[in-house]
Amino acid sequence: MNRVRFAPSPTGFFHVGSARTSLFNWLFARHTGGTFVLRIEDTDAERNREEWKAGIISAMAWLGLDYDEGPFYQSDLLAEHTAAAEALLGAGHLYACDCTREAIDARIATNAKPGYDGFCRDRGVERAPGVALRFRVPDEGVTVVDDVIRGAITFPHDAYEDFIVVKGNGVVLYPLANAVDDRSMNISHIIRGEDLLPTTPKQIMMWHALNECAGVTPVNLPRYAHLPLLVNESRKKLSKRKDPVSVEQYRNDGFLPEAIVSYLSLLGWSPRGDEEIISREALVEQFRLEDVSDSPAFFDLKKMTHVNGEFVRALSPEEFLEAAAPWVTPWASNWRPDDRVVPWSEDDFDDELWRQVAPLVQTRVATMGEIPDMIAFFFVEPALDDVAFAKVLRADPLGRVMLASAIERLAEVAWTVDDLHAAILETGDALGWKLRQAQAPVRLAVTGALVGPPLFESLVILGRDVVLARLGSALTAALS
Ligand code: GLU
Repeated sequence: MNRVRFAPSPTGFFHVGSARTSLFNWLFARHTGGTFVLRIEDTDAERNREEWKAGIISAMAWLGLDYDEGPFYQSDLLAEHTAAAEALLGAGHLYACDCTREAIDARIATNAKPGYDGFCRDRGVERAPGVALRFRVPDEGVTVVDDVIRGAITFPHDAYEDFIVVKGNGVVLYPLANAVDDRSMNISHIIRGEDLLPTTPKQIMMWHALNECAGVTPVNLPRYAHLPLLVNESRKKLSKRKDPVSVEQYRNDGFLPEAIVSYLSLLGWSPRGDEEIISREALVEQFRLEDVSDSPAFFDLKKMTHVNGEFVRALSPEEFLEAAAPWVTPWASNWRPDDRVVPWSEDDFDDELWRQVAPLVQTRVATMGEIPDMIAFFFVEPALDDVAFAKVLRADPLGRVMLASAIERLAEVAWTVDDLHAAILETGDALGWKLRQAQAPVRLAVTGALVGPPLFESLVILGRDVVLARLGSALTAALS
């Protein structure tokens, strides 16, 4: 049975690259009926933080990437790593090295081959604090990485120095710890980012050496699949620091997990048709590791935002209300986005009104985070946008005429979408204006801005009194 693992190091916020790796492992496990293991590689105490560990777990839960085993913490497995190191040392795969960095650097200048020169290989250095353990890389031959996505990749051993696997302070390093855990967890497929490919031969060497110590014929090697890099618009590797790529941030901004899953699945993989939008069920059904491409994939936030909008529109009215709740009624929600202040208070808010408004905004927003600014005018008196006010009502005398005429017409028109539409159209017509131009002063006065939800529907919901009062105060402000 297939067993895969996602093995993140908690050294920062959970970013889209990690989410994509996690997703592809999950999809592979679900498609093949295998087991998905979560192992958090938290042995680098200096670079790990509790909040980042928690971030991995909550982001995966949010994205619906459930695991069958774990979370395991690598820091709980140190005894196994140390035991493996001792066994490898006993079998001669490791040797102790007391060279200082300075001594190594001094020799590198005159060495034929770069890197550590194997100085301590046969010196019989005693174990002591400060003495590291290095792996004896076979002098000759090659390690072949049999990659599902990239085919066989050959790494000649002479490109590898005898690398350190246990530091002088006793800390077991990644190439050994990772291989020991993958072995003991019976991992059958290692699916991870292409950036880790150069370390893979080291892990394969470890795996062979561990097999030999355990008397296992080397038939249990995992298969590898190195996923293509994610790049930004300048085709550079996506950077945690420079690109805004944390999954937490997207959650705060009001992306839907299903949209992120759909979008990320297409970064390096394509479904049979060329759908832009794909459901989780279809993904599980169609995902094949063999179909993952080896060329870099462009992470395009604009595209992901567009895809999110499509998912927002596909929600049922009830689902939309539920998804929007943390941004609209944060006080009543278990989870709420950080650093966001809703422009109304609990007292200003009116649930009945929101239920009427919701269908209007569902067609217009790409993310939930856009909702509050768009609908604030339903609950609180809007401040008029300065630039729009100067342009539409101050600089243009016709804007004021339009407002004055609209006040007269709207005082008596029947209060329906169609009648309001006809009234504004006719009022504008008298000034030689098209509907769009005629709507602008009215929209600005009532909503505070020149863009927003459909105007006539909004006027109907707000009611005649509120609309007339706002038109009146905007006109007064424009005339003063
Ligand atoms: N913990 C390492 C990382 O996050 C290794 C991951 C792996 O082997 O999949 O880079």
